[in-house]
Amino acid sequence: MNTVRGIISPIVIRTNSTSSAQNFESMISMVKDNNFDRGGVEGSGVVGLKPFLDGKLPNKFKILYTQEELKNLAQLRGTSRDIEGRMKVKLTEHYLNLVQKNENLKNLVKARPEETEDLSGDLDPSNQNRYSPVPGLLHKYEMVLLFAAGTCSSHCRYCYRLDLFTKKTGKQLVKINEITDYIVNYNKKAKMHQGIDLDNGKPMYIIKEALLSGGDPMVLPNKRLARFIFRLAEAGITTLRIGTKELAFFPQRFDKNFFDMLDLFHSAYPNVRIVFVLHFTHPAEFLETDDKQQYIPSDLNATTFRWMKETLNPVIELKKRAHFISLENQTPIIWKVNDDSTTLHVLQKELYHKGIGNHYFFQCRNIQGKKEFALPLEETWKIFYLSQKGLSGIEKNARLVMSTEQGKIEVIGVTGGKIIFRVHRDLFNIPPEESIMICKNNPNAFWITDYDSLDIWKKQ
Ligand code: SF4
Repeated sequence: MNTVRGIISPIVIRTNSTSSAQNFESMISMVKDNNFDRGGVEGSGVVGLKPFLDGKLPNKFKILYTQEELKNLAQLRGTSRDIEGRMKVKLTEHYLNLVQKNENLKNLVKARPEETEDLSGDLDPSNQNRYSPVPGLLHKYEMVLLFAAGTCSSHCRYCYRLDLFTKKTGKQLVKINEITDYIVNYNKKAKMHQGIDLDNGKPMYIIKEALLSGGDPMVLPNKRLARFIFRLAEAGITTLRIGTKELAFFPQRFDKNFFDMLDLFHSAYPNVRIVFVLHFTHPAEFLETDDKQQYIPSDLNATTFRWMKETLNPVIELKKRAHFISLENQTPIIWKVNDDSTTLHVLQKELYHKGIGNHYFFQCRNIQGKKEFALPLEETWKIFYLSQKGLSGIEKNARLVMSTEQGKIEVIGVTGGKIIFRVHRDLFNIPPEESIMICKNNPNAFWITDYDSLDIWKKQ
């Protein structure tokens, strides 16, 4: 690390000369990659249903589907109910090992015919393309989000970015030059016009924060990741988020080369914070279990449990860098996967005790085929509420939110025949007195648009 600090000067890479380009390239050349083996024939995990249908996978993969299930899935191929027309099947060997012990995790990655029984829902949930001024970029709030990768190590069947994978709505991956140009020009304009967009009178917030998303940026090689984060820092980004489920799908990805790359970045940009936005859905993704599939207490008097080493070690490495790295977790609440208050209670407690913030729980978005994944909103709220019973104030920081086309709405509670929402992040300058919304409850509602009295919110 000291050697790196000696070689790289922030001043050198912030000039616009040819030598600065050379310095940038020489810095990238210091980043090392590794060929990871996530399982499957080419090391990218088992991709698609075909290997299962061909029956050529090692025996341990055969626990995922019965012959009857494979027959049913095969019959749907090529029809309007083709499961992989909705979402490709993918999983790593690491996740398969977890799935063997836990039925809920199996439901997270296992394709089932019911997914395409009712295909109502949106191809582009929350109309994200509406906020895409440049291909591969979402600029919705005061920050920007980049579609940096077009896949993940495994695929969650409930994914709301499935259109990026299927390419059905025109979502594309970013070209980093276009994004940094956009950020620089936008910030120049915002400063020039004192933070007001002269075309529509709306506020223009300086873009200081960027989220690398996808897909999962952690499937990219370190050199490619480094190009993204160095260029974003160079464009003036001071908080870089990396959205990833890799600690659940393939924690071995967080190896020495990756941490060396992060240290290199920090030595060049000491004032830029990196926030890993993790996606642990269920505690069985990181806790050890005994023969009876019970979590193992971490010591005799402990109220916490023992973590799997391969997941704990990268968390410890990340926490060693707390001076420039933070960890937050967010996950949707999904039917048959984590629709249980005890599971979510353990999840929050364990994450908090390892220094990972509990950020958001989400209502499952209005994805195509959502009937197989989403719970009615008021049921989700109840599970969430009960999951926080017995947690201390500092352990229960998570909010339950809906990420809607018009902004993030927090579900405060259901009481006396009413449901109460709070505007958590809005895009239309909702006045303070309208930021709390109370309306008649509706046990059959899945989304904000199912509440009649919220017409104004729907029309924005
Ligand atoms: S990790 Fe996120 S982006 Fe990847 S499949 Fe799961 S929900 Fe989709």
